[in-house]
Order: sequence, then C-alpha cells, then structure tokens
Amino acid sequence: MNTVTNTTRATARSLDGVSLHFLIIGGGPAGYQAATYAARLGAKVTIVERDVFGGAANLWDCIPSKTMIATGGAMSFSRRLQGMGLAQAAPEVDIESLTSRVQGIQHELNDDIKQLLQSQGVTMINGTARFTGPNTAEADGPDGTRTIEFDAALVSTGSRPRIPDWCSPDGDRILTTRDCYPPKSFPESITVIGSGVTGVEFVHMFSSFGAEVALVVSRQHVLPGKDPEVAGVLEDDFIARGVKLLKGARAETIERDDETGGVVVRCDDGRVVRSSHAVLAIGSVPNTDGLGLDAAGVETDDWGYIPVNHHCVTNQRHIYAAGDVSGKLPLASVASMQGRKVAEHVMGLHTVEHRHLDYDKAASAIFTEPEIADVGLAEAEAFSSGRKIRVTKVPFATTAKAHINNDPRGFVKIISDPATGVVLGGSIVGRHAAELISVIALAVTANLKVSDIYESLLVHPALSEALAEAAE
Ligand SMILES: Cc1cc2nc3c(=O)[nH]c(=O)nc-3n(C[C@H](O)[C@H](O)[C@H](O)COP(=O)(O)OP(=O)(O)OC[C@H]3O[C@@H](n4cnc5c(N)ncnc54)[C@H](O)[C@@H]3O)c2cc1C
Repeated sequence: MNTVTNTTRATARSLDGVSLHFLIIGGGPAGYQAATYAARLGAKVTIVERDVFGGAANLWDCIPSKTMIATGGAMSFSRRLQGMGLAQAAPEVDIESLTSRVQGIQHELNDDIKQLLQSQGVTMINGTARFTGPNTAEADGPDGTRTIEFDAALVSTGSRPRIPDWCSPDGDRILTTRDCYPPKSFPESITVIGSGVTGVEFVHMFSSFGAEVALVVSRQHVLPGKDPEVAGVLEDDFIARGVKLLKGARAETIERDDETGGVVVRCDDGRVVRSSHAVLAIGSVPNTDGLGLDAAGVETDDWGYIPVNHHCVTNQRHIYAAGDVSGKLPLASVASMQGRKVAEHVMGLHTVEHRHLDYDKAASAIFTEPEIADVGLAEAEAFSSGRKIRVTKVPFATTAKAHINNDPRGFVKIISDPATGVVLGGSIVGRHAAELISVIALAVTANLKVSDIYESLLVHPALSEALAEAAE
C-alpha cells in the first residue's frame, strides 16, 4: 500500500460508507475520543492499550490527583467551619477509605470508557503496539502477538514523568507523581521539586493533609509563565500555611538520609532540605520510544515529541499524533479535543464543518486553594507584544456570595480589546475558578464582547456576579 495516496483514498472510502481501518495506539483521552467519534462517523476502529482504557489521565494524573485534592480541600475547608457558625473538630484522614474512593472513581470511569468504546463497535486490544511498516503494526498482549493492517493510524501514547539523571526515585521516599496514588501513608514532611502546575497542586494536596511542605522554586516566583499577580496570591496562601519556599534554587541531588530514614535534597545554591519524603514534579517525556516510528516513517523532534500540523497530521499524511505525544498543551482537555479533530479529519469532515483547534484559547485550571484558572491572552503577554488591552479586575470580596461562603479570597480579571469590546482572555483566582472560567472561555472562543457578559441576567447571590462586574 502506498502511504501517501492512502489517506485520500481512505477518506473517500469512508465518506461513501465503506469502512476505513483506523488504528489507534493508546487509550487515553486523545485515543478513546478519536476512537468513539471515528467509529460513530463510520470508520472500522481498532484501539490498542497496554494499561487501562482511560489512559494515564485516569490511572495516574487528573483523576487520582483531583480526587485527593478534593478530599484535602474538604479538610482545609473544615478548618473554616467555625467562621460559618459551626463548631467542629478537624476531621482526620482515613487512608483506606481515601484509597478505595480514588480506586472506585477510577474503575467507574474506566468501565464507562470501555462501555462507550464497545457501544460504538470499536475493537479493543489489551497489549503494547508498535509499527512494523507504513501500514502495519503489531500488538503484544496476553493473547499473543497480533498483526494489524491499517489505512490510517493515530499515535496517542501520552507521556510519563521526567526523571533527571541526578536522582533515582525508589517509590518509597523519593517519589514521582505516579508513586503518590494510592497513598500508602501520608508523609510527615515532603519536599516538592518543581513549582509548575503539578508541583503547586502537590504542595496544596500534601499541606491540606497536614504535612510540612517545602517547595523548591527554580525562579523567583511559582508558576512560571502564569500571571505574576495570580502566582502571588498562591504564594501568600502557601506562606500562610507554613509552606517553606526555596526561591531561585535548583535541586541537584536527592538522596536517602541514613540518619533519619527520610531524604535530603541539596540545591545548587548550597541550601539543604531534610524531609520524610520528596516528590519530583519537573515535567514529562513523551512515550514514543519502542513504538517503531522509524518503520512507519514518522519523525520525532529532539525531545521525542511528534511534530504535527493543525490537523494533528504527522509528516506521514495517513498517521496522526494527538495528546501529550504531540508536544502541544499537555492537558487532558486538549488531548480529547485533538482526538475529536483527528476523527473529523480522518473521515473527511474537515472539508465540511470544522473549527480548527486554537491552542491559544484553551482554558486551564490549577486545583490549589484558592483555585486558579485562565484562558486566552494574558496581561503580561499583551504588554510584551505592545498590544493595547483593557484590563478590569474585580475582587470576589465585592460579592455577597463570597462572604456567605466565608471565603472572600481572589479575583476575576477580564482582558478585552478597548476598541471593540471583544473578550481576549481572563484569569480567575478563587473558589470554583475552574468552573467560572467557562464563561470567559466561551466568550473568547465565540468572539463575544464584554457587553454579552454584563448584559446576561445572572444569578444572585453568586460568585459569577464578579464576572459581570469585571465585564462592565
Ligand atoms: C499529576 C498530573 C495531574 C494532571 N491533572 C490534569 C488535570 O487536572 N486536567 C487536565 O486537563 N490535565 C491534567 N494532566 C495532564 C493529562 O493527564 C494529560 O495531558 C493527558 O493524560 C494526556 O492524554 P493522552 O491521551 O495524550 O495520554 P495518556 O492519558 O497518557 O494515555 C496514553 C495511553 O497510551 C498507552 N500507551 C503508551 N504506549 C503504548 C503502546 N506502545 N501500546 C499501547 N498503549 C500504549 C498508555 O498506557 C496510556 O494509557 C495532569 C498530569 C499530571 C502529571
């Protein structure tokens, strides 16, 4: 089969109702979304997954971390109950029931995904797949090795935690983020290395459960790349909770401490931190090794990611890459949307009705306390490019609901075009920020104006009143 003509022929075949065979390697958000959607559109789909359908997102990343953060959040919220007219002793964490809660949610979601795939007639193979040629692959699994021929394929194999050469995680005291679920026990004290999104979420999680936390921050503030004002609110909260911030320091070694049984982290500026545990949160690397990409003629960049165009097509026209392996925004929400766009493209729908993915308009959230969310153009980005913007900021403390909730922290910031009023971006710090950002995300995607927000009849009393005020 010829790889270049295949896509065209396959697309035409799919549109006139004859099945195109679409192989998907990796059953995370990118893979299972592409599989179900392409199958619904008429493709014959095979998906190969070596762990669980649902992917690392359900097994290691989004779901377990957010479930534990929700429990930690409930604990820290309980500390504010007195201010709400309730007398309540602080609850204690019960690791066994927390573990079964995390696993219960994971199983439920994984079962739902399997049922969804089944209901769309997708062939599911448990195994590890690799390409053996431009249109062939093999999957090794419990039932032996299967050869698969395909017309089009999607690589959605995700990523794994980056482990630097100066540290050897042992899964006991020196941890990667994947060693934290299910929790065997809660650390008395922990040093978190890395102050990006994952790092600060781990700081929040462990400190909510009562651990003494130190955070190694390589720059001068946490969350590099985010609005410094937003990062500042989070730092204030960390400091108020007693988190030790080691700013401008890079960890150089992490070793077991024979004296205490814990760990010792040494930084490049001479500072030394001792704690019972340490966790690495310094980014991820793509799962592209051992995939036989050479056999399929698919190129990777210097870091192992697979470069793609705006349709997630690789340098091979019939092979796509989506999700973390594509080196775009490493978010489950983005991976899912890429998966859907791939399905549309492989079935030829991009010529009919198709909105290109615009990564600059992706909303994202950080599940700390206060919660943080943003979308679209950032204030600092506009200033550095010299773009004229209008910035309005309203603290939640101006709303009745924040006081009713006994939590007046945070603010809403809306960035708009001063000439047209079109909403360009925004950030929210505070309770339910991850939900509230949807309003600004919709405005950014649909090119709505600030007047569309402030003329909406919103609920009272609600935190969204701060959104309407910021839009005014
Ligand atoms: C701690 C943490 C928390 C996060 N929280 C969030 C969050 O709250 N919100 C959010 O949007 N994002 C979050 N993310 C990011 C999110 O988890 C990823 O962006 C998302 O999982 C990427 O989806 P994916 O489909 O690319 O890959 P994955 O979810 O990684 O799935 C890839 C799948 O491919 C399988 N696979 C790999 N190689 C092969 C092979 N050769 N054969 C067969 N199968 C294979 C793997 O087993 C895996 O199941 C978080 C990340 C981390 C580390």
